[in-house]
Amino acid sequence: MTLELVTIPCLKDNYAYLLHDAASGETALIDAPEAGPILAELKARRWRLDQILLTHHHWDHIDGVGEIVEATSAEILGAAADAHRLPPLTRALVEADTVKIGRETGYVIDVSGHTVGHIAFYFPVSGVAFTADSLMAGGCGRLFEGTPAQMWDSLSKLRQLPPETLICSGHEYTASNLRFAATIEPDNAALTARIARVSKARAENRATVPSRLSGELATNPFLRAGEPHIKASLGMADATDAEVFAEIRARKDNF
Ligand code: FE
Ligand code: ZN
Repeated sequence: MTLELVTIPCLKDNYAYLLHDAASGETALIDAPEAGPILAELKARRWRLDQILLTHHHWDHIDGVGEIVEATSAEILGAAADAHRLPPLTRALVEADTVKIGRETGYVIDVSGHTVGHIAFYFPVSGVAFTADSLMAGGCGRLFEGTPAQMWDSLSKLRQLPPETLICSGHEYTASNLRFAATIEPDNAALTARIARVSKARAENRATVPSRLSGELATNPFLRAGEPHIKASLGMADATDAEVFAEIRARKDNF
């Protein structure tokens, strides 16, 4: 990738990310769960912070914004649809808007479902997408505001990105997500192998994000609602993909 990506663990199980362009010295932060670890990382790398890209309004993604802006004077970019419940935005974004880090362009994708107004940022040249609580490693965010159909539509956009895309999601939920996935597809060999890799990583206190989209396509049940054998095993052979997604999401809520 052309931009440098840094993953920063925050709070109990959140992640923030830095994207840095060495040529221009520009840096963007994606989500701000808390200021401390993020300012420490910037200081250690001697990077200035130019912009904060916000994915959605939940407190565990924005609570650090005030203190970080005070320390860095970074601009704040977030969804126009959420402007009323985000910190004051320098720029309000809608789907297909672009952001710039150095010479690289990122694209805004509306990924409503977890919340209505949740956005993702996709940087095609570096091959990285910031999906926060929409598509997550091994799972997807809970539907607090949107409908299952909305989330299915959002995931359907993300699944069309190049399979080698790095998916940067918002939480360390992977192990429990995959435990649930195994109840949907107990015979998925790629899933079994991923569960082993993830439990080793967690035992060594390593992050399981970012993850490759190709791996999500092979193991994440929320991207696999269209698979005929999954539909059949849920007794939903004739259901639409969106209906099967809704059923899998409902099961996860009760898992
Ligand atoms: Fe959230
Ligand atoms: Zn979150």
